[in-house]
Amino acid sequence: MKFSWKVLLLWTLPALVIGFFFWQGAFAGAPADMTKNAANTRMTYGRFLEYVDAGRVSSVDLYEGGRTAIVEAVDQDIENRVQRWRVDLPVNAPELISKLKDKGISFDAHPMRNDGAIWGLLGNLVFPILLITGLFFLFRRSSNLPGGPGQAMNFGKSRARFQMEAKTGVKFDDVAGIEEAKEELQEVVTFLKQPERFTAVGARIPKGVLLVGPPGTGKTLLAKAIAGEAGVPFFSISGSEFVEMFVGVGASRVRDLFKKAKDNAPCIIFIDEIDAVGRQRGAGIGGGNDEREQTLNQLLTEMDGFEGNTGIIIIAATNRPDVLDSALLRPGRFDRQVTVDAPDIKGRLEILQVHARNKKLDPSVSLDAIARRTPGFTGADLANLLNEAAILTARRRKEGITLTEIDDAVDRVVAGMEGTPLVDSKSKRLIAYHEVGHALVGTLLKDHDPVQKVTLIPRGQAQGLTWFTPNEEQGLISRSQLKARITGALGGRAAEEVIFGAAEVTTGAGGDLQQLSGMARQMVTRFGMSDLGPLSLESQQGEVFLGRDWTTRSEYSESIASRIDGQVRAIVEDCYENAKKLIRDNRSVTDRLVDLLIEKETIDGAEFRQIVAEYTDVPEKPQYAQL
Ligand code: ADP
Ligand code: MG
Ligand code: ZN
Repeated sequence: MKFSWKVLLLWTLPALVIGFFFWQGAFAGAPADMTKNAANTRMTYGRFLEYVDAGRVSSVDLYEGGRTAIVEAVDQDIENRVQRWRVDLPVNAPELISKLKDKGISFDAHPMRNDGAIWGLLGNLVFPILLITGLFFLFRRSSNLPGGPGQAMNFGKSRARFQMEAKTGVKFDDVAGIEEAKEELQEVVTFLKQPERFTAVGARIPKGVLLVGPPGTGKTLLAKAIAGEAGVPFFSISGSEFVEMFVGVGASRVRDLFKKAKDNAPCIIFIDEIDAVGRQRGAGIGGGNDEREQTLNQLLTEMDGFEGNTGIIIIAATNRPDVLDSALLRPGRFDRQVTVDAPDIKGRLEILQVHARNKKLDPSVSLDAIARRTPGFTGADLANLLNEAAILTARRRKEGITLTEIDDAVDRVVAGMEGTPLVDSKSKRLIAYHEVGHALVGTLLKDHDPVQKVTLIPRGQAQGLTWFTPNEEQGLISRSQLKARITGALGGRAAEEVIFGAAEVTTGAGGDLQQLSGMARQMVTRFGMSDLGPLSLESQQGEVFLGRDWTTRSEYSESIASRIDGQVRAIVEDCYENAKKLIRDNRSVTDRLVDLLIEKETIDGAEFRQIVAEYTDVPEKPQYAQL
């Protein structure tokens, strides 16, 4: 077994504590000298006087300034043997001395012995000293363990918080669907493998590459793949790990990281979430964050400090390039930016192929169909999707993953865990009307995405859901499409109101309203789709971040603000009237669909359209995706 200081100390410390109390009891209280011949038995003062009077006392030794006496006397009870007793004397007993003199008893007063006090003092000191040494060792040992309590003891000397992987084992083949990014980064591999090809012609090898893209798109994976392809070590740290409670720790971590990297060059340094340290300096509300600024400064210094040809390439990832300090983006630092976006349908297919390599798929499953069914999914979502499907397959004891599992997994990834359906009740009817309202309005509007399915099986927060298949391949969205979406989103509330009356509408539409209000507002303020004319009245989303331009005020006056509100309301009211009209005009098919939905719990899009077509004209729409 490995000898461990920590374990030893953990056991010895409690022992020391217990030992200390015994020690205090045994030594520290009484003078040492007295303990040697102290009698175990005690005698009361009164008895002692009786003994003196009876002439049975042979000697008396006084201790502690006359407060205690050890008395030698003849014990009548036990065959007249000479015994010793300990007697506590009253404080004022001067007559005792004269009495002893009278009786001719030999007595001796012992001075207050100092060693008693010294021992007591030492006893009191030894314990804290041991404790402190013990704790010191404990901290020293445990500080080698990551996240141990030792951090507090040596926060001045940063501990390495970065990970190093000698071989990542990731190859470019494992990264799919982001071809442009891959191509750009292919060159970085050549920088690492054959730097002389570039230096020979006087080219300066770039020091830093910034990967920009939403979470889960494969930025970390790409960085690892570069290291894997070039066969160099991979150092990684997350920006948030630089920023610590203690000022100066982040900076010293940066220093450590670069030192380690230089020792291991050529290599890759990967800084995840660089926006955590790399935010624009000097603009924080409520005082800048000194620690973060120092860390950033250190990072800039280190990046300047090594020559481009030492074989270290820094790759950083962020999804907020807009908040980064401009000094970071200057040539000579992160001068290359590579965008890593959510994959398109072709990309999704390739990613699915990568992750299906080690999965057992039923031959009936076409990855192509899954790719079409999953617009907006990132690489991480797709990996998660296939994994969920595999778990479901195992749970259902099937041979291979079939479409049913894929379908369930998609729903789960998008909308959360499936709940148990409600029993038939008024509230279930209301939810059914709400969902049929969405689906019916969506089906009847020419510019709305087609319904994929309607269900009353709860998922996540939602009690029922209507799924539409968006057409992602079109980049631009027209005004009539936006209005159709707003009308469709209002379909649920419209159905509640038309069927049950304005007093019975529920909170179930809260999420819909939030979403559609956002859309309507953007139509007015960003896309110039209202009577206010083609004006952009808000930059981006009006997102508040404290990094850079927190001082920008809204770019319009009070009067414009109230006109914006008026326009937004006009759009929503118009759409709401339209939705209510569609429900009213199609009341009988609505009732039939609700009955069917309550009976079957789920209606798929094709069946839904077919039933609606029996009552009214259904506009033709391209069916983007069908599983
Ligand atoms: P990011 O760093 O951009 O947030 P990651 O690189 O950590 O995303 O991706 C998480 C996981 O998702 C990866 O380990 C991988 O399994 C999967 N993944 C993401 N993007 C891709 C991709 N383009 N190709 C293959 N797998 C991917
Ligand atoms: Mg990542
Ligand atoms: Zn709804």
